[in-house]
Amino acid sequence: MIKQADIDALKTRLSGLVIQPGDAEYNHARQVWNAMIDRRPRLIAQCLDKQDVQVALEFTRQHKLVVAVRGGGHSVAGHGVCDDGLVIDLSRMKAIEVDASSQTVWAEPGLNWGEFDRATQPYGLAVTGGLVSDTGVAGLTLGGGLGWLMRKHGLTADSLIAAELITADSRIVMADADNEPELLWGLKRGGGNFGVVTHFKFQLYPVGPIVLAGAVLYPLEQAAELLRFYRNYVQNTPEELTTILFLRHMPSLPTVPPFMRGMPVIGINLCYCGGIEQGERIVQPLRAFGPPLVDTISLKSYIKHQSAADPTQPRGRKNYWKSNYQREISDDAIDALIAGGETISSPYSVISLYQLGGALQLGDARFNLIITATWEVSEPGEQHVAWARDLWQKMQTDSIGHAYNNFLGSDAIERAEEVYKNEYSRLQALKARYDVGNLFRLNHNILPQDC
Ligand code: FAD
Repeated sequence: MIKQADIDALKTRLSGLVIQPGDAEYNHARQVWNAMIDRRPRLIAQCLDKQDVQVALEFTRQHKLVVAVRGGGHSVAGHGVCDDGLVIDLSRMKAIEVDASSQTVWAEPGLNWGEFDRATQPYGLAVTGGLVSDTGVAGLTLGGGLGWLMRKHGLTADSLIAAELITADSRIVMADADNEPELLWGLKRGGGNFGVVTHFKFQLYPVGPIVLAGAVLYPLEQAAELLRFYRNYVQNTPEELTTILFLRHMPSLPTVPPFMRGMPVIGINLCYCGGIEQGERIVQPLRAFGPPLVDTISLKSYIKHQSAADPTQPRGRKNYWKSNYQREISDDAIDALIAGGETISSPYSVISLYQLGGALQLGDARFNLIITATWEVSEPGEQHVAWARDLWQKMQTDSIGHAYNNFLGSDAIERAEEVYKNEYSRLQALKARYDVGNLFRLNHNILPQDC
């Protein structure tokens, strides 16, 4: 039981807000992107700077509270909020400073990708970022980071060159190539396991501001043919091109032609971040495959493409995700994907295959499968969860038995070792150095190595 006097004392020490049950802001402040997650923390500390984070952590230690750390709140597993404990909400820490001469940027953990891109693109610079503009820079980076630039510039985490971390005992540690390089390595692999990152420094790359991007869409009836064509096509595409194949029912959005709304489709979404003329040549076979229902591949600003998926992914729906790295698209997988597309149980659910390879160093992983079952809060979820699980099970034939941290849903806790694979014991040693008491455990948790 925490005394109100202690909470009041915390309020006076924090520059940001401390929110508790009963406060007008409480219900809004506890919500995260996935409406499946409905937790009631004892306190939410909306930090404004690293001193606030130090103070909030001190309070959790004193009162033996569970702690959840939140950037953009997009964790589908709900890691950004807890029951009873204290949420360290970093969403108000949005400072960003671009150094165009060294092509680097310092960014605070409350930024989302829309804000980040808008700060770097005026300089014609970018780093691999998320595909939806309100996803947090912090969580996405610490879990890896897949995006439109990944086959050219690697995971977002690959471009992380320094980070300032507040540890479980409230120390400030700077990790970069010269100081604490092992910690920097761990931050790129281990999500929020080691502490609270209050500053990220990224290497940036010249990108855009105009890129060749968009999608071609076909009726689901053409899925078998398109999938066979696609698996050959992606064998020899340059690093500048990243594609995502998807199956879904077309959403009822103003941007979708009325005749297509609700239609089951298969499509290829893409971004080419190199020279435009070469890009046109590279995407030509996709257009030659057959007359698509719609072809939106055109020159557009990188920023526009980075928010193109926003309307399909609003906050406040229920979500259940299943994911895996895949080594290939076998004939069996093609059958499973088509069956999955035909039986899709919700107009919001999507099956996607992200094309990997290029600059990504992910071993045998050639594709990332992500099945996002999404439905309205008022609906029961069983049939949507069952659909996702069934398809995921059928896709196991091509799975490499390794999963991407950031795409794991709420049933993924027991899959932590599948995420970290052969790096797990090295990460456990690091965890023992920085968080031996496992204060930071609301994540795909790395258990500290026995000391
Ligand atoms: P939060 O829920 O705020 O944080 C998730 C976890 O990250 C926290 O619980 C904590 O463990 C850790 N964390 C966050 N901030 C810090 C910090 N400052 N210090 C230490 N730990 C911290 N992933 C991709 O790779 N590419 C995509 O294109 C992509 N698109 C997505 C689109 C949508 C609509 C959604 C919902 C998710 C998407 N994801 C994508 C997955 C996304 O990367 C993860 O959900 C990620 O956790 C989101 O980060 P966040 O800061 O918004 O999440």
